[in-house]
Amino acid sequence: MKEKIYTDIICKGFCRYYKEGREEIHCNGYVLLRSNFTPYELKIMLNLFKPKKEIKKEIPDRDERLIDLLCKGCDFFIDGCDYADNISVTPCGGFLIVNLFLEHPFEP
Ligand code: SF4
Repeated sequence: MKEKIYTDIICKGFCRYYKEGREEIHCNGYVLLRSNFTPYELKIMLNLFKPKKEIKKEIPDRDERLIDLLCKGCDFFIDGCDYADNISVTPCGGFLIVNLFLEHPFEP
């Protein structure tokens, strides 16, 4: 089940596929982000990286390892996800945020 505070950040902010009313399922990126970051930490990090307004339509380089990591266990993968199935070139919001974080590794 989604939590509104995370849904506002991840889905409404970053996902072009998000539709209200389907709060019982979420992508695996959402699960990973919610498990590892408080909403406050998530907002701080996203502010640091200053993603472009059009990030929802971003076409990241296809990373099969990230697809394996996130998509194979995702709620949406079972019924078919256009990105994971290579039909669409734009992934969901959770995937985009995880990809964004991986592109900006923290220096100790
Ligand atoms: S791109 Fe599709 S399968 Fe991959 S995490 Fe997002 S919704 Fe799930």
